[in-house]
Amino acid sequence: MRGERLAIGVLGAGGRMGRAVIAEVLAAGDLELAGGVERPGHPACGAALGNGLVVAANAAAVAHRADVLVDFTTPEALAEHLRAAEDAGVALVIGTTGLSPAHHAAIDAAARSIPVLQAANTSLGVNLLVALVQEAAARLPGWDAEILDLHHGAKRDAPSGTALMLGEAVARGRGARLEAVRLPPRDGLGDPRPAGGVGFAVLRGGTAAGDHQVLFLGPGERLVLGHVAEDRAIFARGAVAAARWLAGRAPGRYRMADVLGLAP
Ligand code: NAD
Repeated sequence: MRGERLAIGVLGAGGRMGRAVIAEVLAAGDLELAGGVERPGHPACGAALGNGLVVAANAAAVAHRADVLVDFTTPEALAEHLRAAEDAGVALVIGTTGLSPAHHAAIDAAARSIPVLQAANTSLGVNLLVALVQEAAARLPGWDAEILDLHHGAKRDAPSGTALMLGEAVARGRGARLEAVRLPPRDGLGDPRPAGGVGFAVLRGGTAAGDHQVLFLGPGERLVLGHVAEDRAIFARGAVAAARWLAGRAPGRYRMADVLGLAP
C-alpha cells in the first residue's frame, strides 16, 4: 500500500457508477479516495471530490497515487486505462461492459504485469445466479434457454454484459461456446427456433438498474431463474470488495467468482 489506508482511484467519476463507487469509498473508514478521473471536457472535471481533491482529466494523474483503480467508463477508454495502470504498477478493477474480443486480449496482455479483475457484473446475487444457471443448463440439456435483460434507457450496449455472462453460463453447462449457440435477434418472419440455441430479449427504459431472467423452456414446464438489481449501490459495493481483494495480488486476470469464493 502507498499509504496507511488502501487508496482507490475512480475512473468515470462523473458517471452513474463512478459516483456510486466514490460514495462507497468515502463512507468506508479504512479506504482513501486517491482521486477521480473524467474524460476531458466533461462538466465534472475540476469538481470537488469531497476530500480536498478535484476530478482530473487523465488517468495517469491519479494512477500514481492509487493502490487500485476502479473503471466504470466506456470500451473506448479501456486502452488508456490499461496503459495508466501498467505504467503506475497499480491494480485495476474493470466494470465497463460492451468489451470486444480485442479488448479482452488487451486485458490479458496487461494482466501479465499487473493484477486485473474484469467483471460485467460485480453483485453477489448475479455471480451466484451464474453458477446456478450453469448447473441448470447441464441438468436440462434438451430445454430451450432464453435470456431477458431489462435496463434504464441510457444503457448503450445490448445485450447487457450480465446477459452475456448468463448466456456463457448456459453454454458452459452444455460444453459449448456462446458464439456457437447464440441466436440472432428476432424481427419479422423467421424460421422456427433451432434446438440448442440461446436467445436474448432486450428491454430498455426508465431507471431500472438491471433485471435479468434466464428461462429454461421444456415440454409442458419452464424453470425461471432471475435477479433484480434494486439499486446500483450493489455494483459499487461489489467493485469496492473486488478492489480490496485485488490489492497486492500477483499479476494475473481474476474474476468476481474469485472474490466471492464461488470459483470452482
Ligand atoms: P455513465 O455513462 O453514467 O458513466 C460513464 C462515465 O465514464 C461518463 O461520465 C463518461 O464521461 C466517463 N468516461 C468516458 N470516457 C472516459 C475516460 N477516457 N476517462 C474517464 N472517464 C471517462 O455509465 P454507467 O451507468 O456509470 O456505466 C458505466 C459502465 O459500467 C457501462 O459499461 C455499464 O454497462 C457498466 N456497468 C457495469 C456494472 C458491473 O457490475 N460491472 C454495473 C453497472 C454498469
